[in-house]
Amino acid sequence: MGTMSSGSEPRFLFDHEVLALAIIGSDRMFPVRRIYCVGRNYIEHIREMKEADERDPPFFFQKPADAIVPDGGVISYPMLTADFQHEIELVVAIGRGGRTVAVNSAAELIFGYAVGLDMTRRDRQREARERSLPWEIGKSFDQSAPCGPIHPVSRVGHFHKGAITLAVNGIERQRGDLSQLIWSVPEIISNLSHHYELQAGDLIFTGTPAGVGPLVPGDRLEGVIEGLGTLRITIAGKPD
Ligand code: MN
Repeated sequence: MGTMSSGSEPRFLFDHEVLALAIIGSDRMFPVRRIYCVGRNYIEHIREMKEADERDPPFFFQKPADAIVPDGGVISYPMLTADFQHEIELVVAIGRGGRTVAVNSAAELIFGYAVGLDMTRRDRQREARERSLPWEIGKSFDQSAPCGPIHPVSRVGHFHKGAITLAVNGIERQRGDLSQLIWSVPEIISNLSHHYELQAGDLIFTGTPAGVGPLVPGDRLEGVIEGLGTLRITIAGKPD
């Protein structure tokens, strides 16, 4: 009655892909466990979004791990939106777990850094905010987390300042500097680790500077963070 096992059957009914990111200077891959995002972390972006208190503590949301799209990827204009927007962000890759981590030891958890895009269905996000509904529909959808290769701390060190920019079709849309982060990377890690136990494989998108805006099919995005190279993503053209 179904308790016998041949021993040769695969354990899982079916397989699905574990999303992983390339690591600069290595042939090995970084398997993604969870994707956390900081809701707001640059003053000018809070102002352009007309959000409440600029001194609010950081808040977090998640994207599904399989929302990752690697550098050079082509993503579809998503369903359910007429206002698909870009948010260029510094991504922190966690290489060692921890819970209730102190700010002054938070950097020890960091494996490396990358350039990421927190893709957003802005109309759905605003609607959810106005109706006090969860953010998932606006933030946590298929292909919503493009992310470039990870630059290990052993090669590039830590990032406290440096330009962060995004161009669409060669025209600059977003520009900020990592020194403008309201909550520093160690503060974000410490705070988040009081919400969830962090594990190796977690990614943290650290918030976007001002200049977010809408995209159309065919757009070519180039996100750059000083010292972390360029993330190139294309929005697929309209189907015939
Ligand atoms: Mn964001």
